[in-house]
Amino acid sequence: MATNNAIGIDIGGTNLRVALVSEKGKILNRIRVPSQGNILTNVTSLVDRLINDKTAGIGIAIAGIIDKGKGSVVISPNLPSAEDLNLADIIGRKYSLPTYMLNDANAAALGEKSAGKGKDLESFILLTLGTGIGGGIIFRHELMDVPAEIGHMTIVPEGRECDCGNHGCLEEYAAAKALINMATSAIENGTKSSLGLCCEGNIYKITPELIYKHAMNGDMLARDILKTAGKYLGIAIANLANIFYPSAFILAGGLSNAWNIYVEEAIREADKRAMPGLFDKDTVFRSEIYEDAGLIGVALYSLFT
Ligand SMILES: [Zn+2]
Repeated sequence: MATNNAIGIDIGGTNLRVALVSEKGKILNRIRVPSQGNILTNVTSLVDRLINDKTAGIGIAIAGIIDKGKGSVVISPNLPSAEDLNLADIIGRKYSLPTYMLNDANAAALGEKSAGKGKDLESFILLTLGTGIGGGIIFRHELMDVPAEIGHMTIVPEGRECDCGNHGCLEEYAAAKALINMATSAIENGTKSSLGLCCEGNIYKITPELIYKHAMNGDMLARDILKTAGKYLGIAIANLANIFYPSAFILAGGLSNAWNIYVEEAIREADKRAMPGLFDKDTVFRSEIYEDAGLIGVALYSLFT
């Protein structure tokens, strides 16, 4: 007899991904399309293609602050069109299934707990390192029901303005957008770098992947940028270690691929700053299921909540 399954929906700034997930956390089928046009129409057309008679729940993961009671997004800096849309409510009624909405990094933390690096860990903090920085905290084997907006931790008083309205947020100094800003403004100000010759001379096309590649090839500016960003990330990790003393940190997202330099610098900095005994540099892991963690986590959440 086939067991139950659930639909996981991940609404990202770039891609909309929908998957059918088994109750054991295995992805059975999936579709990915670019995030454009009407969110609701796109989501339902993909769900229609995957749902079957064993589907017992639907979970929606999205960046932003979620009102779980209403099943809607309160603030979504990357997807303002999703704000105040009671998506979980509308979809739940359409398919007559329990439907929940979770912050994407919270969902990814749950996915890591059920099917990833966090499986056997009592506690860990997941950081998604991409355009911005998201967080999810597993404590005593459960997801902490808190926003965990770690990317908006103030790291530089009077620092750069963030989309959230605050100044000096971590993600303005340690996420992809920060790396790109640092590279373009240094080159504009005359710093010599092999990055200045990339992208057919259009420095506004520099990506974090390129910065990493040039750094690994010995470009000093690219190296400095990754080290600076890594240092800020390390300050945040030290703060989190001091507060939560988690069994591990799990790093996910595109920037976690820049392990040498960026993450290593973060680990060094955290080790220097955390209180003695509260941070172990051998407990920082890279996610192995990042692309799927949010989909799996939010799908299972809809089955077991
Ligand atoms: Zn912010």
